[in-house]
Amino acid sequence: MMTNTEVVKQLKTKTGEESRLLIEILNLLELVRARRIYNDYGYSSLFEFCTKELKYSEGAAMRRINALTLQTQSPEIKKMIHENLENGELNLSHISAIAKIERSEELSIDQIKLAIEASQGTSARETEKVIRQTLNLKPVSVKTKVSIELSSEQLAHAEKLAALFSHSLSTQDLPGLFLYLLEKTVTQETNREAAQKLRKSLGRKVKIPDPQTITTTDKPQKLLQNMALIRNSTAVLKQSPPTSAVKIPTNESDHTQIEAILIHSKMRPIHSRTFSPLIRKKIRDRSQGMCEFISPITQKRCKSRWYLQLDHIHPWSLGGSSTLENCRMVCASHNRSEWIRIIEERQAELRST
Ligand SMILES: [Zn+2]
Repeated sequence: MMTNTEVVKQLKTKTGEESRLLIEILNLLELVRARRIYNDYGYSSLFEFCTKELKYSEGAAMRRINALTLQTQSPEIKKMIHENLENGELNLSHISAIAKIERSEELSIDQIKLAIEASQGTSARETEKVIRQTLNLKPVSVKTKVSIELSSEQLAHAEKLAALFSHSLSTQDLPGLFLYLLEKTVTQETNREAAQKLRKSLGRKVKIPDPQTITTTDKPQKLLQNMALIRNSTAVLKQSPPTSAVKIPTNESDHTQIEAILIHSKMRPIHSRTFSPLIRKKIRDRSQGMCEFISPITQKRCKSRWYLQLDHIHPWSLGGSSTLENCRMVCASHNRSEWIRIIEERQAELRST
């Protein structure tokens, strides 16, 4: 039987090995990110790769990605992080806390170094406070912890929403989703109230643009645009009687009609870069609003909903046509990685000729 001293001695050896293993993992993840290997495996982000391919929990994946982001700031920072991990002065929670402050306060390299030194030996709970004090940053505002219970149906809805907004969320979890929706809704409501006030002050019924289309990022400009639109439409209403609205086709047969008109119309270039409305509709239906990229390695489909766009499988600039067979829906991440792959293939071709 092992003595207590032996148990502790062995544990210390193993935790040392654990830290070295963590450093190796971080370095490998750095390659996955730099080479965008996650794209080849059918994922739209490193986070998705870590949770689905490597089976990390969301928190564990986030902490590793945070550490990775911090260590890629500079070779010096990387060396410092690795040394501190190895001698046990810092753990992943410390590094994650530093990364969080780095993101929100945009720290300089020197400030990050100071933050690393300051967090040595602190408890997870006090790390952020200590760093803020050391760097003379404003303390974090008072926060209230709230917990909610969701039924399995509500949870499924929330997860669907989280996937839909994954590109906008600061943290890829349900609290992150809640905070995002909170801010978005408040902004929309404020815009709606402002638009209503404006309509009242104009004293006339004018069509107010749908507040749903106003997003948090372009709020001030959009609001100004909307106000201009309202002013213009009021001026138009004063000058001329309303004309009948343009009918927007809503069903398949209307789209087919448009397609037929476009094909026979001289106005449409024969070799157009844009896909016809019919093709666009067919691909939208086929893809069910998800990325259609299939990993050549795992045969797994991406299914991300992140900034979807229609893509020419064989690029239009290289002679690909805008046909149904050459069209697919891809997420922003795969649109980019496919483009890089094609450029690299072309460069290799050019070199070999
Ligand atoms: Zn994708």
